[in-house]
Amino acid sequence: MPAEFPDFRLGRVLATSFTATLSERHGDAVERIPTPRRLVDWLAVSGLAVDSCTSAQLELARELRESIHAAATAAAVHDDLPASAVQVINDCSANGRAAAVLTPEGERRWRLSSPSRVEDALGVIAADAIGIISGERDGKLALCASPTCRAAFFDTSQSRTRKWCDMNTCGNRQKKARFNANRRKNAASAV
Ligand SMILES: [Zn+2]
Repeated sequence: MPAEFPDFRLGRVLATSFTATLSERHGDAVERIPTPRRLVDWLAVSGLAVDSCTSAQLELARELRESIHAAATAAAVHDDLPASAVQVINDCSANGRAAAVLTPEGERRWRLSSPSRVEDALGVIAADAIGIISGERDGKLALCASPTCRAAFFDTSQSRTRKWCDMNTCGNRQKKARFNANRRKNAASAV
């Protein structure tokens, strides 16, 4: 598995994991799918393996990603959903021809209509986004407390009080910053 993509399959939410492939949107943004190959890698770790991806398909994927980001952000702050974003999400959902299949072990897998059909994978992601933005799924959309991030994430914790999109990145950074501030304060008062 490529190191750049953390293994967040446990409890991960497909749509917001996808929007997280552009991180630090309000700081020094980091693009984690800069090339078609990187999108292929991301889809593979997300259970949506394709064997190829064109530049046009990458472009479409990024358009869907930003549309989900815009709609999820609006939903998190109870704003009207941007019509153009809704259109892109719906088009991607309608164009997808992936089928959910059940494995003998009782797990759900996605079967694409063809291994080169990135559009099928995007359809699955779009449908996942519709599930969380519409409130169909159990959880709450919220915005990351990190000022350089502000990513929309889906909080499935029991208390619905999660503050960061990801404990390993934004949560940790915030904790470290607080720890350093405390240490400086203690050092100052010790003098
Ligand atoms: Zn964050």
